[in-house]
Parts: sequence; C-alpha cells; structure tokens
Amino acid sequence: MDRFDVVVIGGGIIGLATARELRRRFPHASVAVLEKERAVAAHQTGHNSGVIHSGIYYPPGSLKARLCRAGSASMVEFCRERGVPVEVCGKLIVATEPAELPRLEKLLERGVANGLRVRRMAADEVREREPHVRALAAIDVPSTGIVDFRQVATALRASLEGDGVELRLGTEVRGFARADGAHLLHTSGGEVRAGYLVNCGGLHSDRLARAAGADPRLDKAISRLDRALRELAGRTGPEAQFAARRLAGMITVTLQAALLARHAAGPVADAFCASRLEPGALSGPGIPFGTLPGGLAIDDVLGRATPAHG
Ligand SMILES: Cc1cc2nc3c(=O)[nH]c(=O)nc-3n(C[C@H](O)[C@H](O)[C@H](O)COP(=O)(O)OP(=O)(O)OC[C@H]3O[C@@H](n4cnc5c(N)ncnc54)[C@H](O)[C@@H]3O)c2cc1C
Repeated sequence: MDRFDVVVIGGGIIGLATARELRRRFPHASVAVLEKERAVAAHQTGHNSGVIHSGIYYPPGSLKARLCRAGSASMVEFCRERGVPVEVCGKLIVATEPAELPRLEKLLERGVANGLRVRRMAADEVREREPHVRALAAIDVPSTGIVDFRQVATALRASLEGDGVELRLGTEVRGFARADGAHLLHTSGGEVRAGYLVNCGGLHSDRLARAAGADPRLDKAISRLDRALRELAGRTGPEAQFAARRLAGMITVTLQAALLARHAAGPVADAFCASRLEPGALSGPGIPFGTLPGGLAIDDVLGRATPAHG
C-alpha cells in the first residue's frame, strides 16, 4: 500500500495550489494529489469565466476581501513567471438605470475601503472607453484580469511534478477508514494511507467530508463560533457584552457535545475556557459551558454526539 504524509483530494485549482503550498512549507513531507478525472481542471476550474477578481464586492477587512486582493496579485505573478498568458484588462461596473446609481456609489466606497485603485467614470467617458456600452456612470476597476484557469492548472501541475508531488489522475476516492492514527483511503486505484487529508473536492467536498466522518454543517457552526470569538477578543464594554451574548447564543448542546467529542481542540476550545472572555460573559441567553439543559449529564450527550473525526 502507498503511504503519504499528506493526501490532497481533487485536482482543481484549489487542490493543486494547496499541494504546491504544502510542498513549499513542508519540503520533506511526501504529498500526493488524487484526482478522479484523467486531467486536471476537469470541473469548475476548467469551466469558469476566467476572471481574476479584484475583491471589490467583499466587506472591507473581511478574510475574503484580503485573500482576493492578495490572491489576484499572486495569480498574475505566477502566470508571468510561468509564461501563462494573462491580461490585466480592468473592468467597468456600470449603472444603466437611475436606481442603480446609489448602489454604484456604495460599491465605489467599498472599493476604496478595500484599498483598490477604483474611480468613478461619467457617461461620456464610459462611451469613449467602451463605445458599445451605454451607461449613466461606471466604476473603473483596473486590477481585474482575465486568464485561462485550465492553463493555470496545467502550469501548477508541471510545478508540482517538478517538485516531487505525486499526481494520480483517474483515481477516485471512494471510501475512508482509520487505522493506527492514519487515514486509509479506498480508491479506484487501490488503498492509500495518509497522515493528513485535505479535501479539495469542489462540489463533491461536502459528500467527501461526510464520508470521512465529518459534519459540514457542524464545521460551519464551529467556524462561525470561532469568528465571533475572534471579534470578541480584546474588546470591553457594552459592545463586548453584546458580542459575548451573541457568542453564547451560538453554543448549542449539539455543538458543545460535538466539540467535547473532538476534545475541543484549537481556537474553539478557547470559547469554552472563557479565559479570553470577561467573567460572566457566557451567562447570556445561550447555554454556558458545562451546564446542559434538562439535567443532562455531559456523558449522556457525548454518547449521542457526532463521532470524532481526525
Ligand atoms: C460558471 C462558473 C463561473 C465561474 N467564474 C469564475 C471566475 O470568473 N473567476 C473565479 O475566480 N472563479 C470563478 N468561478 C469559481 C471557480 O471556478 C471555483 O471557485 C474554483 O474553480 C473551485 O476550484 P476547486 O478546485 O475547489 O473545484 P473543482 O475545479 O471543481 O475541482 C474539484 C476536483 O475534485 C475532484 N474530485 C471530486 N471528488 C473526487 C473524488 N471522490 N476523488 C478524487 N477526485 C475528486 C473533481 O474531479 C475535480 O477535478 C466560477 C464558477 C462557475 C461554476
């Protein structure tokens, strides 16, 4: 049976880029990418609109906004380094009806807050730049680009193969088991053992996660909780009390039990340690840690909790 320190499932742009980053950060780890199709980028990555987005639409300061800005710059850099044709042609976001003008202004403010070099264009300037476009006004977003993501994936594939990452095409992951602390993958090409698994299965990733024993809805709840906790960290006063009550409201019995079943590892555990919260912060309308409603003992709930995965 083949063994790898890390197995990435999915040869779309996310899986390939993840494998590349893993190789960069852990040069001595053995890394494999398993892809069920006979080519990379066979699904969303090879069938999208080819836009390198600027991040104008995302809330300023959000992870999406920051990642989109950093990602668009590094995508252009990667393409130029690897000889993949890329064009930073810019984009116009247009208002064609008077009712759209206030929304356009808001978007412009958002772009500025996101640190983009955006500017407003009047109707005649739009016509001059794009003679076939009729608009009342527009936002010029110069950092938007276009690229063929299939070619990007092909360049990523070459980079991985050159760096000793094993890429197995035509290899579908069909089932999961655990053995001696490792993951055992049942694939169309035989069994593969992995120390760590990274699920980059695109539109199949929720099914893969469930098959591996995870509960994606629970994971979503955990990440929301984690985000709320980060928002709260270091804050004091009434605003912090409000945020703390919101946080407490998110801690449901199921979530609490499932977290306990996973030994409440990582930053989420902090929510329960309450060490970063003011005393009494969790005594809002939610369920404070350790006191379960209806006289349930924690062990009772643990017995019914989602089994631990990983
Ligand atoms: C119509 C459309 C237009 C879009 N336009 C843009 C755009 O212009 N710009 C932009 O930035 N984004 C765009 N997107 C979004 C972007 O394409 C996706 O976010 C991105 O491609 C997702 O990449 P991925 O690697 O997660 O998924 P995918 O490219 O879908 O890759 C997932 C891979 O996992 C493999 N896989 C699944 N299950 C298994 C299994 N059991 N075993 C082995 N392999 C498995 C699949 O075969 C697939 O190759 C668009 C999306 C769509 C649908």
